[in-house]
Amino acid sequence: PAEGELQSPQHADVARLLPVPAAESDKYRRGVVGIAAGSARYPGAAVLAVSGALRGGAGAVRYVGPAKEAVIARFPETLVSDQGPAKAGRVQAWVVGPGAGDDAATVAEVLATDVPVLLDADGLRLAARDAVRGRTAPTLMTPHAGEAAALLGVRREEVESARLAAVRELAAVYRATVLLKGSTTLVADAAGGAVRVNATGTSWLATAGSGDVLSGLAGSLLAAGLSARDAGSTAAYLHGLAGRFASNGAPAAAHDVASQLPEAWRDVR
Ligand code: AMP
Ligand code: MG
Repeated sequence: PAEGELQSPQHADVARLLPVPAAESDKYRRGVVGIAAGSARYPGAAVLAVSGALRGGAGAVRYVGPAKEAVIARFPETLVSDQGPAKAGRVQAWVVGPGAGDDAATVAEVLATDVPVLLDADGLRLAARDAVRGRTAPTLMTPHAGEAAALLGVRREEVESARLAAVRELAAVYRATVLLKGSTTLVADAAGGAVRVNATGTSWLATAGSGDVLSGLAGSLLAAGLSARDAGSTAAYLHGLAGRFASNGAPAAAHDVASQLPEAWRDVR
């Protein structure tokens, strides 16, 4: 890539972006993040997305979906709703898709809102391209290489051999900010400009549920007011560090990564 095409934020760059509550702040001013995730088959994806969201800087996490009992059992501070996203109450950003199965209606409902949306996992597959392109608020898509390949209609190897081109093309085609996951994470805006590269992670992060933690974390940063590009790159940075702390050279589970997010945050500040 030519000079200026890539940016690699460092500790100090990330520290400036972390949302710290003002002395007179309250939970609503800090932002409420909505999580629409999980299914009877994948209840744990909802729990892990909430685990990341609770450590992402928003003042409250609201959950809608079929995994309420599992979410509340693990995280009693979560606000739960029996309504769909449109009627769940005000949120400043939505995360939709982790473990969502085939619930296309919920994905469409979230995309129809006027707040920032993070689209991950099943949500990427279920979202209508025009529903994403037509959004007025920012959209952050977080595919891994396989999901990116499916969206572009190419083979996974083609994405893996040209990741920079793939992330840019997806951002342009969907008019969204795209965070391409993998051994490094790339974040591209629809408008072009420099692509942010994150390499704080470790291959121990290649574990089930790891991406669900990232989606909740990034959604929480969106709710706290960061742009899609800043939320994506900051989440990738903290998630990678937390992965290193959780692993320290040994296998770690996704929920261990979530538990290390406060330590990663302190390390950056
Ligand atoms: P997902 O595939 O949705 O579970 O997301 C996996 C998460 O782990 C993403 O944040 C990836 O960037 C990260 N990850 C996966 N494999 C690696 C790797 N080999 N090195 C560093 N991070 C990785
Ligand atoms: Mg995933």
